[in-house]
Amino acid sequence: MSALAAEKGAINLSQGFPDFAPDQRLLERAAKAILHGNNQYAPMTGLPALRQAIGNLIANHYQRQIDTNTEITVASGASEAIFDAITALVRPGDEVVLFDPAYDLYEPAITLAGGRCRRLVLTAPDFRPNWQAFRQLLNDKTRLVLVNTPHNPTGSCWQQADLEALWQAIESRNIFVLSDEVYEFIHFGQQPVSVHSHPALRERSLVVSSFGKSFHLTGWKLGYVVAPAELTAELRKVHQFVTFCTVNPLQQAIAEHLQALPEETFALGPFYQQKRDVLRAALAGSRFKLLPCDGTYFQLLDYSAISDEDDIQFCQRLIEEAGVAAIPVSVFYETPPKSQRLIRLCFAKEEATLQEAARRLAKM
Ligand code: PMP
Repeated sequence: MSALAAEKGAINLSQGFPDFAPDQRLLERAAKAILHGNNQYAPMTGLPALRQAIGNLIANHYQRQIDTNTEITVASGASEAIFDAITALVRPGDEVVLFDPAYDLYEPAITLAGGRCRRLVLTAPDFRPNWQAFRQLLNDKTRLVLVNTPHNPTGSCWQQADLEALWQAIESRNIFVLSDEVYEFIHFGQQPVSVHSHPALRERSLVVSSFGKSFHLTGWKLGYVVAPAELTAELRKVHQFVTFCTVNPLQQAIAEHLQALPEETFALGPFYQQKRDVLRAALAGSRFKLLPCDGTYFQLLDYSAISDEDDIQFCQRLIEEAGVAAIPVSVFYETPPKSQRLIRLCFAKEEATLQEAARRLAKM
C-alpha cells in the first residue's frame, strides 16, 4: 500500500510511522555520538549505560527492579528481538498460540523455527480474548503464547483481568510468554497494562519494547527485551549470531537522552490522544464507522455502509478515488471473519495531514 500510495501520490496513512520530527535534542545527541563517540562494535548485550537507563525506566513506570546485566538485551528493533525470542524458544513440532489479527512478523518466525501457529480469532468491536476458548487451544505441545498490547492493528488494550486469565491458564503448564509491548506508552485512559507489572507472569515472559515507537524514530530500529536471566541467556545465543550488536552511537544517544529527560519523554498518551481525536472528529460526519481505539496510533474504520467489496479491493479503490492509503485488516488474520469490513489508518501524522485525509475519506 505504501508503494501504491507513493506511485499515485496518495496521503499515506497505511504504514505505521510518524510524519513529524523526533526530538531535536535526541538528534543532536546522535550527531554528537557519531562525530565524537565510539563508532566500533558495542557490547553484544547492549551498552551498559543504555541498559542502566532502561532499568531505571522500567523501575519508574512499572515498579519492577531488574538486573540490568542479566535481564536486558538491546536489539536492532523490536523485530529482531521478537525473531530472536521465537528462534530461541520454539523447537520443531512446538505450538505457539497467537491472537488473530496478529502482527505479520510472528508467523514467519514461528514457521522458520519449525513451530506451528494455533490461533484465537478476535473480533470487532472490542477484540478481547475469550479465555475459555484460549484454554482449549493449549496442550502438551504448547510452548509459547504471543501477546501484543496495546494491539496493532486494532488499537485495543488488554485489561489487568486478561493478564490474570492468561496466567491462570498457563500457570500449571510449561509455557512461556512473548509480550510485544512496543506501543506501551501509547495508551489512552487508564493505567498501562503490562506483563512487567504482573509478578508471576513476568517470570515466564520476555517483554519487548521499541524506541522506534517511543521516540518517533522508526528508522533507528532500536529495541530491547526484558526477561529473567535464564530466558535472556537463551535469547542472547540467537541475538549473538543475528546481529551480534546494535548500532553503537545510537545507543549512546538514547542512553544520554533517557538520563537527561526521563519523564516528559514518555508522556505519549495525551500527545497521540489528541491526534486520534482530531481524526475521529474529522470523520464523524462520514459514512465510516469508527471503532474504539484505546492505544497505539492506529484507528480502525468499518466501511460496510459504503461498500461490500473485500478490504483489499476497497483499499486499492481508496487510493484511486480518495487519494488516501490505508491497510486492509484481513491481512493480519489467517482466516479473516467473512463479513468484517475493516481498514486501518495510522494517525501518527501532523494535524493538517489528518484533516486533509479525513476530508478526502468523507467523500466516499
Ligand atoms: N511489533 C509490533 C506490534 C509493531 O507494530 C512493530 C512495528 N510496526 C514491531 C513489532 C517492530 O518494531 P521495530 O520497528 O522496533 O522493529
